[in-house]
Amino acid sequence: MGIDFILDELKVLKDRALMREYRTVEDQQGTYIQINGKSYLSFCSNNYLGLANHPKIKQAAIDAINQYGWGTGASRLVSGNMTLHQELEKKIAEFKCTEASLLFPTGYMANLGAICAIVSKGDIVIGDKLNHASIVDGCRQSGATFRIYPHNNASQLESLLQRSSIYRRRLIVTDSLFSMDGDTAPLPEILKIAKRYDAIIMIDDAHATGVFGQHGKGMIEHYGLEGKIDIIMGSLSKAIGSIGGFIAGSKHLIEFLKNKARSFIYTTALPPAVCAASLAGLALVQEDTSLIDKLWENIEYLKSRLSEFTNNVTIQSPIIPVIVGSAEDAVNLSNKLYQNGILIPAIRPPTVPPGTSRLRISLMTTHSKDDINRLIDVLKNVGFLTHKNISHTKNSYAQTDVG
Ligand SMILES: *Cc1c(COP(=O)(O)O)cnc(C)c1O
Repeated sequence: MGIDFILDELKVLKDRALMREYRTVEDQQGTYIQINGKSYLSFCSNNYLGLANHPKIKQAAIDAINQYGWGTGASRLVSGNMTLHQELEKKIAEFKCTEASLLFPTGYMANLGAICAIVSKGDIVIGDKLNHASIVDGCRQSGATFRIYPHNNASQLESLLQRSSIYRRRLIVTDSLFSMDGDTAPLPEILKIAKRYDAIIMIDDAHATGVFGQHGKGMIEHYGLEGKIDIIMGSLSKAIGSIGGFIAGSKHLIEFLKNKARSFIYTTALPPAVCAASLAGLALVQEDTSLIDKLWENIEYLKSRLSEFTNNVTIQSPIIPVIVGSAEDAVNLSNKLYQNGILIPAIRPPTVPPGTSRLRISLMTTHSKDDINRLIDVLKNVGFLTHKNISHTKNSYAQTDVG
């Protein structure tokens, strides 16, 4: 009966504890956020370095509005390209150690646009099982043959490549730091395999940017792969504290994407003030290495606190998945934390595989030891954190010790 099917589908979501709802934050995106007039300790933001409201970022945006106005009125290729887009792209390229870069309105659009421009029918794109949805959507929409290898399983990737010689182009694409599991891809190994089969390699550095590497350049800096990755995708919306996505790579790649990436061509340019905020965020990350050091101190501290409960703590990043199991149990645990003043929404299918619903803790530079202690106490008090209860996703390759 026409549109009425949505009622049935909504009921199914509700019955399966898969209904998605949001809460409304009434003040700024800080360590503590206000919801319904009450203050909650947040452990779920990607604002890893706490930059989203940094005074320098706010001031940069205000100054840019005064000088350049707000809107851009057209796509980059029509008349929307402004001084600050150019400046930001230059800075991103420097930051990622590439010749050039190209801005997209969001990271989602960067993945979509780049993948669809690089591969199409007659090509093959091969991705990790746990790749971000924006990568998956790009792979599906590209029209290329799309194959998936088990999470971080380089030998399975290789066997897919062994059978890929009939395709015109081969693209390997992986998250560098997995968004829902917090573990890292074995990039040096994947790169070696890519070379062996003449494949193009693309990494999604959205979560690693501003977090990994001594200067926050991301997983390329962490592994010393500067200049070796064909296509680096990143986001300015997480640790950098702003918004926007980008692709970094060779001059030729960027020239190509300017002409071929539909999510770049057919959309309005980002406001210049957004670029100014991103420039300020990038500058802060590079100027003040204590921001990153403090984040890693917090990661180490949480690791040590969790080790009191299990000897199986495999934390590799500020993203710490606490696997609960069923969607319902994850929602219940999340609600209990909420009643105790802590915000960590449940992550459920289809974001994660069925049976692995979880709370995804994310740490920030601005968390204090007391904040982390409070998280542990509340997890203990609601009966979750017992000596056998806490588990993490299994990684199928040897851990890299970071930090
Ligand atoms: C957040 C995220 C994106 C999308 O970036 P936005 O700038 O938020 O659109 C892409 N890939 C990964 C792995 C992400 O976590």
